[in-house]
Amino acid sequence: MNTIEQFNKHVMPTYGRYDLVLEKGENRTATDENGKQYIDFGSGIGTNSLGFCNENWVNAVCGQVKAIQHTSNYYYTKVQADFAEKLCNVTGYSKVFFGNSGAEANECAIKLARKYSFDKYGKGRHNIITLVNSFHGRTLCTLSATGQDVFHNYFFPFVEGFIYVNANDVDDLKAKLDDTVCAVMFEYIQGEGGVVPLSQDFVDEIFDLCAKKDILTIADEVQTGVGRTGKFLAGDNFGHKADISTLAKGIAGGIPMGACLADEKCADVLGKGTHGSTFGGNPIACAGGNAVLDFISDEKNQKEVAEKGKYLREKLLEISEITSVDGMGLMLGAALKTKSAADVVKAALDKGLLLLTAKEKVRFLPPLTITYEEIDKGISILKDILEK
Ligand SMILES: *Cc1c(COP(=O)(O)O)cnc(C)c1O
Repeated sequence: MNTIEQFNKHVMPTYGRYDLVLEKGENRTATDENGKQYIDFGSGIGTNSLGFCNENWVNAVCGQVKAIQHTSNYYYTKVQADFAEKLCNVTGYSKVFFGNSGAEANECAIKLARKYSFDKYGKGRHNIITLVNSFHGRTLCTLSATGQDVFHNYFFPFVEGFIYVNANDVDDLKAKLDDTVCAVMFEYIQGEGGVVPLSQDFVDEIFDLCAKKDILTIADEVQTGVGRTGKFLAGDNFGHKADISTLAKGIAGGIPMGACLADEKCADVLGKGTHGSTFGGNPIACAGGNAVLDFISDEKNQKEVAEKGKYLREKLLEISEITSVDGMGLMLGAALKTKSAADVVKAALDKGLLLLTAKEKVRFLPPLTITYEEIDKGISILKDILEK
């Protein structure tokens, strides 16, 4: 039995997987079971932010494995304290809660927002506005928060208390922002929704209206955060800092980790016994996270992400099959004239390039450490496919 048959016999069929078995990787190059190599334009799904097995990251993680791999959260570890301090310093937030995924980070944010409002105003102010076409995770609560009907199926009943507003529609936002609302939750750039950025005006309105009514802002930066858009937080590109920001995906360089960051206004809302996670803030994940932060907290490296993103965008726009490129930094989505993104991703695999899709677009989330030469190499493969 080959690996794929063995796998499919025993793993639930929740993903439409490609016929590719990856065995190892080094920086921006992955190698499959047969020794074939691939340039990485996807970094997992934006998780391997420093590429495959980056040397500093490997040393940090392996050192931690040998020191202490886990303790219960009833004890303290220095590595978690260091990671929390670094995260708060680079983002300007007061405190963090650690989970293990984006969905968990968002669950924490939702619980925090509801309790903030309950503590201050009592019952009835529990609704959270999210945006149409958003994506917030796969748990029942974060699926309920996700503003896409295709996800609201099979698993009834969903969690109550989410109101969906059309992205970039200020009138819709104003109409729905009533006395029952405790928070507005949004992605600055909708990732799974097709790499769709919010407009500056709409973001300005969210912050303006929420500030007036003591409604919390929750930025889901699970995909956009940790340097992906050329700033540490995508919010920095819009000139705003949400009361709460959530991070995951690239935060620990490929080890499961989620973070919910809160500013001073709501940093102590979740008190003893109100929330928890057995593995949250795991020392190995924190060690990996420290290596990621040491790299991307450096503004020089953030600027390079922005410049490489600009370069990648320009190169993409030179391809006639590509009609437009959306996104920021190294989070880009290319719309195609005639070809299907899924077909293009499959063809790219054959030619040794790992790509992603996002709805009808080809999505690019390369490692933040990618070089110009590697961008050129990947672009030339893509060009061959698109101009055929
Ligand atoms: C991927 C993603 C999530 C879910 O993260 P998981 O780690 O899969 O739970 C939530 N929000 C956004 C914006 C994402 O891109």
